[in-house]
This record gives sequence, structure tokens and C-alpha cells, in this order.
Amino acid sequence: MDFKVTFWGVRGSKPTPGRNTILFGGNTSCVQIEAGKRNLIFDGGTGIAELGNKMMKEEGRKQADIFFSHLHWDHIQGLPFFEPIYYPENCFCLYGEDKEGETFQQVIEKQMCYPYFPITMEMMKGDYKFINIAPNQDIDLGEGIKIKTFAVNHPNGCLSYRIEKRNSVVVYCTDTETIEKQRREKFLEFIRGADVFIYDTHFTDEEYIGTRDGQSKKKWGHSTWEEGTRISREADIGYLILYHYKENRNDREQQEIEIFAQQEFKNTVAAREGMIITVGGDCSEKVVISYPY
Ligand SMILES: [Zn+2]
Ligand SMILES: [Zn+2]
Repeated sequence: MDFKVTFWGVRGSKPTPGRNTILFGGNTSCVQIEAGKRNLIFDGGTGIAELGNKMMKEEGRKQADIFFSHLHWDHIQGLPFFEPIYYPENCFCLYGEDKEGETFQQVIEKQMCYPYFPITMEMMKGDYKFINIAPNQDIDLGEGIKIKTFAVNHPNGCLSYRIEKRNSVVVYCTDTETIEKQRREKFLEFIRGADVFIYDTHFTDEEYIGTRDGQSKKKWGHSTWEEGTRISREADIGYLILYHYKENRNDREQQEIEIFAQQEFKNTVAAREGMIITVGGDCSEKVVISYPY
């Protein structure tokens, strides 16, 4: 198997626990991709806390390469509760961009300081380092794993990641508004042929335009499920995975969206917390999706 993708948090903006979100889950953004012995994590929303709990139950030293798409709260707020990073025998590389004149490290450290939080990053005794990355970068992780970055369309900037191993490809693309005009072709090239395309489907087209309430969501930095299906058709995508749901989207609405999206692009699945996707395994199907229930 090339990749095992596990969804630990699929929600955008803020955690949304409660009986109306049990099916899809209420934790904010976090996706784990296991590739051989390597453990890659994309974003540190509240989902990363549960992933940390699972890692703590496993034998031996813990390690991970943690890639941040950007540093909005819903993508970093779980890091203070990621237990493995508090133990000196564990080893992590944290990748992200500098923001607004501050280094990536400074921005991460700022969310953990008095009086907002009683624990600082100095109390995290793990062996971790910060690695600055930028758009259009090629990162060779070794062991045949290559990662490319692309700047998507979001306030304060955001990186999308294309993860490749042999001929298997997963794209993690959250927090982006539609990419237009001259950059659109480049974006389609970046995602082209992905077996699994995880995409920001925060809004519906109606919500984005403001058809019903006159409240347009343009410039909020998020896309729609309709746009996800359009670009998936254009870019020869294997599976479109709906992701980063609007915080007050309930399970019933999200199930309807999944059905509508499947009518536009057959291989569409709405991400659920606990869902696992394998890519390039022994099965006759290259992509196999296991639902948590
Ligand atoms: Zn977000
Ligand atoms: Zn954001």
C-alpha cells in the first residue's frame, strides 16, 4: 500500500460537537497520511488531539511530519493537546509558512502563551523543529515520498499539498476560494490525476453567491461542493473528498450535499471523522474507502 489516509477532523472554522454532527464529526481540520514507516499529518485542528491519543497507545518512539496549510485557529488549535509532543523521546518536523512579518515558529508559539494558555511550547519536551516552506516548493521526504506546494486563494494565504509515492497521488487542498483566470490552469495542473482529492467544500454555490439571503460569502476564502465537482471533472480526479464543512452544517444537510455532489461527480465521498482511505494497496481497486460506521 502507498498511502493510508485517516480523517481525524473534517470541520471548518470551529469545533462543532453535539447530536447534529455525530455522523460526520465536529473536530476541526486534521488528516493523517501513513506512507510506509512515515507518518504525515496535515493540519493541527482539534482532530490532532484524538490522533495523539491513539499514537500514545502505540509502542515505541512517536514521529511525524506535520504540515500546516496555514495558521488560522481551526488548523492549529489542537496542537497544545497533541500529547506525544510533550515527551522527549518523540520526534517531529513542523512545516509551514511565515505570516505577516512573523516567523512560522513565532505564530505557533503565540497561541500558547500566558494569559491565553498556561502551557508554553518550552514545556513541550519532544524533539521538534520548525521548517519554513513556501509555495511552489518540492519537498523530498525520502523513502519515495515527494510533496509539492501550491498557494491557494485564502485570506492571509494558504498552502495546498500534493503528496506522491510511486504512481499514487493524494492532494490536500483546504481553505481556498475558487482560483480564477490565469492561475486556474496552473491549479488544475497541480491537482491533475490525483487518486484522492481532498477539497474545501465549506459552502454551497447558493450560500457563496448569497442567492437566498443576499449575504455573499465571496472573499471569505472558501469554496463550494459544486466547484469541487467541476474541477474534479476537469482535472481527471479519481475520488473527490468533500472536506472542511461549515461549522453549523448538520448531518442531514451534509448527507444531502453528498448525494447531490455524487450526481455531478460519481466518485464523491463526504469525509467523516474516522474514515480511512487506502491508495495503491493489494486490492483490485486502487482506492478503497472504509467508513467508520
Ligand atoms: Zn479553516
Ligand atoms: Zn483559514
